[in-house]
Amino acid sequence: MKNEVINLADKVIASTYKRFPIVFTKGRKCTLWDIDGKEYTDFVAGIAVCNLGHACPEIAQALSLQADLLFHVSNLFYTTPQVELAAWLVDHSFADRVFFCNSGAEANEAAIKLARKNSHDKGHRDRFKIITMEKSFHGRTFATLSATGQQKIREGYDPVLSGFEFVPFNDIDALKRQMSDAVCAVMLEPVQGEGGVVCPAPEYLRAVRQLCDKAGALLIFDEVQTGIGRTGRFFAYEHFNVEPDIMTLAKALGNGLPIGAMLAKEDTASAFQAGAHASTFGGTPIITAAALEVVKLFERENIVDHCRQVGSYFKDCLMSLKDRHEVVEDVRGIGLLLGLKLKIPGAPIVTECINKGFLINCTQENILRFIPPLIITREEIDSLISCLDEIFSSIKGEFN
Ligand SMILES: *Cc1c(COP(=O)(O)O)cnc(C)c1O
Repeated sequence: MKNEVINLADKVIASTYKRFPIVFTKGRKCTLWDIDGKEYTDFVAGIAVCNLGHACPEIAQALSLQADLLFHVSNLFYTTPQVELAAWLVDHSFADRVFFCNSGAEANEAAIKLARKNSHDKGHRDRFKIITMEKSFHGRTFATLSATGQQKIREGYDPVLSGFEFVPFNDIDALKRQMSDAVCAVMLEPVQGEGGVVCPAPEYLRAVRQLCDKAGALLIFDEVQTGIGRTGRFFAYEHFNVEPDIMTLAKALGNGLPIGAMLAKEDTASAFQAGAHASTFGGTPIITAAALEVVKLFERENIVDHCRQVGSYFKDCLMSLKDRHEVVEDVRGIGLLLGLKLKIPGAPIVTECINKGFLINCTQENILRFIPPLIITREEIDSLISCLDEIFSSIKGEFN
């Protein structure tokens, strides 16, 4: 069965992903089962998506109730789940308005368009540049790959969209030098995810905010990965006492259902009037009913507090791994967005963990990334740490 699925996939699916030879059939909370019945503890969560775990029954029920009522009608009309979800997001953030779409790239696409449209509407026709960060990740559409500060992602697609400039993350002087009257926005991830789990230096985000205010540029936070509780606050910006003008969300907002959102303050959002932007599926009731249950579950079950507590426990465990194993160079991250930088390539470690029943992930070649469902338990963390302990001990001889 397994080989049939994999062989067929390799024939009929575009080869854009290098996949592990595992076919998953079932999940519950932080556990996944493959087609042969092998069990895995999940420290990837569909890449920071299933923050409430797999096959969450309350979300399944919200989805099924809405499926029985109404899937979709288009944004030519109003529907209750969409309005309620937008109102919840506005109530719990800096923002006044929400634009719904279907993915992180689309949310960033909307943010980029809104920043440009703001300049246009204010009569600043030459103010169109957006400064983003080296090693950032903002998506794979043309505008968002143009905004992404990683050459390998833009490779082969030239000419990409013009008007993006890159500066190193955490370098406020570089940003200062790059600022000009031509800049309409600065866009960054409050904690870089794909770039290797890089936290902002103390006061960095506040300094960025001040530079933007002085230059009359908008500040865009891409919280596609950091949002929805991942860092131990519902939105990562809450850690830093800095509010953006625009924020983008996606990944965990639907706990696995496709949804993206762009949030903005009124004076920024007002550049999007009827006809300025659109999405057929954006905010469709079948998806927003489920996402509304996601955010309500976060409140009912104090998920963010749990994330902060186990995240700090997890980080301590990773620190002790670093103390015991020379191969570990650095521990980084916040909440349950954690990274372990190795002095060797991470891929073989990932494969060994998977063989031992733990899904983990690696970014930037040598940074193991841990982004489990936020409902992960200390016991599950302990067993991963033992597994890593064993693997690092076994390579000790080969290392150095
Ligand atoms: C995943 C991600 C995106 C892209 O989201 P898609 O839903 O894959 O389009 C954008 N920004 C950040 C920070 C991400 O982590």
